Amino acid sequence: MRDRHIDVALLNEATVPPPTPFVSAYSASGTEGLNRLASGELMPRAWSSVIASFEGTIDAVEPRARGMFDRRPEIPFRPSKPGVWIAGSVTAQGIGSVTCVSLYGLLDELSDASVHRSLSDLTPLLTDSDFRGRVVVGGDLNTTTAWREPSLRRRDQGVLDRFEALGLVDLLREKREPGPLAGCTCGLGERCEHTWTRLGRGKAPIQTDYLFASRDLVTRLKTCEALSPPDWREYSDHAPIIATFE
Ligand SMILES: [Zn+2]
Repeated sequence: MRDRHIDVALLNEATVPPPTPFVSAYSASGTEGLNRLASGELMPRAWSSVIASFEGTIDAVEPRARGMFDRRPEIPFRPSKPGVWIAGSVTAQGIGSVTCVSLYGLLDELSDASVHRSLSDLTPLLTDSDFRGRVVVGGDLNTTTAWREPSLRRRDQGVLDRFEALGLVDLLREKREPGPLAGCTCGLGERCEHTWTRLGRGKAPIQTDYLFASRDLVTRLKTCEALSPPDWREYSDHAPIIATFE
């Protein structure tokens, strides 16, 4: 990551505590799932969504949680399931404070339900005028619109539409080369806008990972690309998505 001059990384399923060459924000208790062991206890997971900063600190964020008619719902700003998402603000040179969210689509349940729940948790942040113009959200959402089954595709499209409704732009789609992803199973033909991010069980390339940013930040977006998943096989079955902002 140093070789590529990465300032901030959004990681999923990262071991806790993370290694120390960088400053990080994460759930110290790991990720709390919904699955239970035979004993009835929640299945423990020693990993978390993590924000890693290679330059400077990560500050806690506390949105004012204004709802309709400026009402402030008395709901704490935290993940319904600890470890599934983590938010923090970093200072980006020439831009100022940017709030980062590392978000994971936990598969204890169907992933669209998990991401919808997290988006409900995050709505106070994404609707707060102090934060919403400078937010970056990324991770393995376990969400894809390349399902062959139309009802599944529609459900996951609903997840992605919700990001858009909250003012976030899909950065890979914004910067991808025109033309369909070769071998994609979405069936959209020339209208396919997928990018290969994950080694699937079969041979077909699949996208389950996304990086979103506020519309205001997209005006500063220079590049966004997913590296080749086979090149990263040694480290993960997911490829990094790298975005650069001016
Ligand atoms: Zn496609």
